[in-house]
Amino acid sequence: MIQFTDVVKRYPNGVEALKGVSLTIEQGEFVAIIGLSGAGKSTLLRAINQMHTITSGSLKVNGVEVSSLKGKSLRRFRRGIGMVFQSFNLIKRTTVIKNVLAARVADMSIIQSLLSFYTKKDKIIALEALDQVGILEKAYIRADQLSGGQQQRVALARTVAQQPSIILADEPVASLDPVTSAQVMNDFLKINEALNITVVANMHHVDLALKYARRVIGIKEGIIVFDGPAKGINRETLKEIYGRDLTEDELMGEK
Ligand code: ADP
Repeated sequence: MIQFTDVVKRYPNGVEALKGVSLTIEQGEFVAIIGLSGAGKSTLLRAINQMHTITSGSLKVNGVEVSSLKGKSLRRFRRGIGMVFQSFNLIKRTTVIKNVLAARVADMSIIQSLLSFYTKKDKIIALEALDQVGILEKAYIRADQLSGGQQQRVALARTVAQQPSIILADEPVASLDPVTSAQVMNDFLKINEALNITVVANMHHVDLALKYARRVIGIKEGIIVFDGPAKGINRETLKEIYGRDLTEDELMGEK
């Protein structure tokens, strides 16, 4: 469970990116965060794994106050939270399977990881993760030979191999075409349903957010202005979140 209570995030330059956010996300939910660029989506997401430290309020993940974690306990905590980025962040010149196995490094001794000595169990976990996102047959191909959608699937498989309870996705399909975006969102949904992993995704593509997420959180200037089922969102609600009517292109995620 992720629990924000009156969370304020003020950056050193004085910008208040979160202005008293309170919300609870239960284990296994699929949540999309939508809002204008600069609304605070990324700050909200990155507070969850302590990439950004909150200024005041309380943020608990599975009962633990995140800001109390330091050093080893923070590293262990972060291992339980996967992160997927818009830019995939793969090691391009190596194989897909090695990229996915990189997620297992945290569980190895330093000597094992230096020698790239992965156990049979690690390899099975990595191959199963690739199977879950439908690209098992690409396991021994170099990552840079895959399409953007396939590379994002490798990134998702790498996160799954980390065996997290939460996946944070920061604009995961922003650099993909509409068809590929839908396929990748579908993979997120499959993982969410099959493994009960909580998915929290920042989405600039409103259409896909409404289609795949169960719950949508709308943020405007650091304040939650909508929080409810995707089905409950209409043009009026979107107007409230974005401050104006969205064009068709914006609804479809065109920049
Ligand atoms: P979004 O993800 O919705 O585009 P962000 O969370 O990135 O929004 O940003 C929210 C606000 O915080 C913006 O005004 C942005 O300029 C500001 N901001 C984000 N990161 C920093 C930072 N590291 N230092 C100072 N201000 C920041």
